[in-house]
Amino acid sequence: MNTATIPAGLGDAAREFLAEPKRLLIGAEWVEAADGRTFATLDPATGLEIAQVAHAGEADVQRAAAVAREAFEQGPWRSMRAADRGRLIMALADALEAHADELAQLESLDNGKPLGHARYVDVAGSIEHLRYFAGWPTKIEGAVLPVGGDQMLCYTREEPVGVCGQIIPWNFPLMMAAWKIAPALAAGCTVVLKPAEQTPLTALRLGELALEAGLPPGVLNVLSGDGETGAALVRCEGLDKIAFTGSTAVGREIGAIAGGALKRVTLELGGKSPNIILPDADLDTAINGSFQAIYFNAGQACNAGSRLFVPAAQFDEVTHALIERARAMRMGPGLDSATQLGPLVSAEQRERVLGYIDSGREAGAELLTGGEAALPDSGGWFVEPTLFATDSDELRISREEIFGPVLVASPYDTIEEVAARANATEYGLAAGVWTRDVSSAHRLAALLRAGSVYINQWGSVDPAAPFGGFKASGVGREHGRAGLAQYLETKTVWTAL
Ligand code: NAP
Ligand code: MG
Repeated sequence: MNTATIPAGLGDAAREFLAEPKRLLIGAEWVEAADGRTFATLDPATGLEIAQVAHAGEADVQRAAAVAREAFEQGPWRSMRAADRGRLIMALADALEAHADELAQLESLDNGKPLGHARYVDVAGSIEHLRYFAGWPTKIEGAVLPVGGDQMLCYTREEPVGVCGQIIPWNFPLMMAAWKIAPALAAGCTVVLKPAEQTPLTALRLGELALEAGLPPGVLNVLSGDGETGAALVRCEGLDKIAFTGSTAVGREIGAIAGGALKRVTLELGGKSPNIILPDADLDTAINGSFQAIYFNAGQACNAGSRLFVPAAQFDEVTHALIERARAMRMGPGLDSATQLGPLVSAEQRERVLGYIDSGREAGAELLTGGEAALPDSGGWFVEPTLFATDSDELRISREEIFGPVLVASPYDTIEEVAARANATEYGLAAGVWTRDVSSAHRLAALLRAGSVYINQWGSVDPAAPFGGFKASGVGREHGRAGLAQYLETKTVWTAL
């Protein structure tokens, strides 16, 4: 690569990784795409190329699926002692920890997010996730069932679903990879993983570390590529399951195709999550939390708190505090330690977000702060933290997922009104409530149609706590026992005695 584009802030290990051509991991080998195609991954803070990456096509998908199939059918992965499988997943977690700074630097460079977030949210979260699921193989149990009297032995086995195609987005690249592979590996599945074209680097590094940690070749295959690569995975007959995180539009298509083929499918999709401040809330805490809920990761989070409901009497106080904080946010490249708000991931994403901002203005929402592209001389894709006020729930900015640093705040009068308005969306990923009143908190928690409800905080995640969407926000759950179950099939065995 052109070393002139390597920014300051990258350590030797990350530089060394970038110095080698980025190929596809199929089995134990790093290979070029069958047709030799490559694409550039770009630094969102400058728009400059970081590296050329192999672009997997149909032939590569077929090959990786066949290798993953062989590793599933003949390899040691599903048949080894559960404790050994757990130990290997733990070894992968340890390898990530040993390379945590390098991974964080690569993530920050490729995605644009602040280095501290990359290190202490993305990389730390990935390690935790692998460690949690490393404990599962030894706890996957069937049951002996009380059927057929003493003439019958009937028991269940929990078996791996098989070969899994896993397609992930660009907003938390390594962490989405860990969320996908950890339960699959624990269950004894093998995987073909496709990172997003905007952020392929840490998934490729993860593939290297998996081999070094001793995962049998073919258990984890990594195919960098674009939406076509993902579509080829979804069509591939050699896969038993598709797991996808990304937009609701693409999730719908994948669900339809996988449904037609009766492939197992889990979908983690978009959101337009309501965040409700009740009149008795501790306002400082609520303002702080609501600010983080939208502007963390530049709003590029599926569970971003992107609709804020504030009691009419407190609306001005809350929005003024948010405006002040938004204006004080320091924008810059993720690798600069002073940065609080990084760029959006791509030029396309910036255009999409600015388009939403224009539509909000045109529809008559009041722009309280932000609204413009920022740091134009950088060459990067920065957008100011933006806040709209509106009474309407019908605007595109109030209904559609923007996936950028854009908050829409609305006043309300009663709890009943706000609960109905919060639920009046096709999405149902997350919702938040800020209050000191235990009974309002839990009444609302029951009323809100969302996969996660956050009370007096926003966005807690833990590998043990199920995460996923109601309604158009997805199908299935990740994390915990529920997440593991999506990678298991139950077999019932009947024996006449
Ligand atoms: P996307 O198209 O849904 O991409 C997600 C993943 O799916 C990427 O790996 C993508 O590959 C792949 N993909 C794209 N088209 C596919 C297809 N037809 N079949 C199989 N896989 C396919 O999302 P995006 O275009 O990057 O972002 C668009 C919008 O989606 C965002 O503005 C945001 O609203 C939403 N989004 C939501 C999440 C979330 O966590 N819920 C994450 C990302 C984006 P390529 O990236 O290589 O095309
Ligand atoms: Mg990139």
